[in-house]
Amino acid sequence: MTTASHEFTPGQPLVFRNGTVLTMDNAHHVLTGADVLIVGDRIAAVGEHLAAPEGAAEIDATGGVVMPGMIDTHRHMWQTAMRGYGADWTLTQYFVWNYLQWGKSFRPQDIYAGNLLSAIEAIDAGVTTTVDWSHNLQTIDHAEAATDALQQVPGRFVLAYGNIQAAPWEWSTTPEFRDFVSRRFSGGDDMLGFQMAFDVPPASPDFPEKAAFEVARELGVPVTTHAGVWKVTTDDGIRLMYEHEFMTPSTIYVHAASLSADSYHRIAATGGSASLSTESEQNAGQGYPPTWKLRAHGIGVSLSMDTSVWWSADLFSAMRATLSADRAREHLEAHNRDETVTHHHLRAEQVVDWATRGGAKALGMDSLVGSLEPGKKADVVLIKNDASPVMFPLLNPYGHVVFQAQRGDVHTVVVNGRVVKHDHGLVGVDLGAARREIERTVDYLRGELGPEAWTAGMHPDIPETRVLDNPYTYTYTEDLTD
Ligand SMILES: [Zn+2]
Repeated sequence: MTTASHEFTPGQPLVFRNGTVLTMDNAHHVLTGADVLIVGDRIAAVGEHLAAPEGAAEIDATGGVVMPGMIDTHRHMWQTAMRGYGADWTLTQYFVWNYLQWGKSFRPQDIYAGNLLSAIEAIDAGVTTTVDWSHNLQTIDHAEAATDALQQVPGRFVLAYGNIQAAPWEWSTTPEFRDFVSRRFSGGDDMLGFQMAFDVPPASPDFPEKAAFEVARELGVPVTTHAGVWKVTTDDGIRLMYEHEFMTPSTIYVHAASLSADSYHRIAATGGSASLSTESEQNAGQGYPPTWKLRAHGIGVSLSMDTSVWWSADLFSAMRATLSADRAREHLEAHNRDETVTHHHLRAEQVVDWATRGGAKALGMDSLVGSLEPGKKADVVLIKNDASPVMFPLLNPYGHVVFQAQRGDVHTVVVNGRVVKHDHGLVGVDLGAARREIERTVDYLRGELGPEAWTAGMHPDIPETRVLDNPYTYTYTEDLTD
């Protein structure tokens, strides 16, 4: 159901008038009382009192913040079908439920349903580019369904193809996989990118993941990998990738938390970047969000929300959590030395950069999106809420975005020059259809699990003895605990 209060004609020029504009350009120019003009799919101009072409639609940004669309570099979008189900899980319980018990139950239409809802949720929240870390593509039909959903929602997406139900050297080397990639991703469409998504758990000396990296290299596609996940993926994986020259500037290391200085040096030296999911790292225990280590090593940072089975798709929350985690650690360490922090090293401005420009750089899309500059694709967000007591006074725009605003304050969203949300309502998006798809999937999964397993899965017992087996699939070592 469309809830537009304003009709926009496709291709109609748009101008945001009189806003506080966070350009996120190299100099981080902040303009007040400024306009952003969009012609076609591009930003035509940014500045004061811009002349707009005849017939341009005017969007009043008075009292609001105009900023680049946010970029989430790691979301398991299919899991949105089980929104909130695992709020009290640990990472072990997540692995058990998804990897060993119920992940296999997801049919192509269930992947479709989760992706559809997640994609709509992203644009509604001002996240104009999202990497779908899609690691339950058990068959090509599942992959087609995931891709169909992404193409039906007017956001910018990257399908990161993965499959936890098989080893990466198995699924990536089939003719069906090659055929799928060439059929659906050969067009060079900047609305739908492609990556390969797989992990390198503690090493087999044979490094069988090599075959999957070779496919990625041959196809010329980036690899995204959960790295530095406490006792799941370790320095060994990074070392093997490095020794085989698979670490590149386009490689994304998700979490990158529990790693040694050697591994950070290797990431820095090869130009890759880290995708921080602070709420995830804080709750699931991959390791402390390593913001200070990444900054010390000069490693690029982007932000992500990981999965709605636990958390939201809200990058305001990611910015807030990331800034708070960095400062909490700084205070705690200072107090342990009997010192007082009198000057925060990480600033609000930096996390806004990570949520926008950082994502664009990580995805190799910095020339296209991530800042409001003439010539770039028009992915633009207006944060404005005249009914909210939180929108004024607007004194410190970066601080306001990080600690005051929330996704309900996202007033207008433009992706590729097209208005997809205006006056707090989605435009041209059928939320009712997504709801029906989700209801069918939830009904089916409830039936598959039965009432007992359904409840037990949501509220898993704390085992009497410590869980000793690492349930991560394609793990070679028998016992990772000590
Ligand atoms: Zn993840």
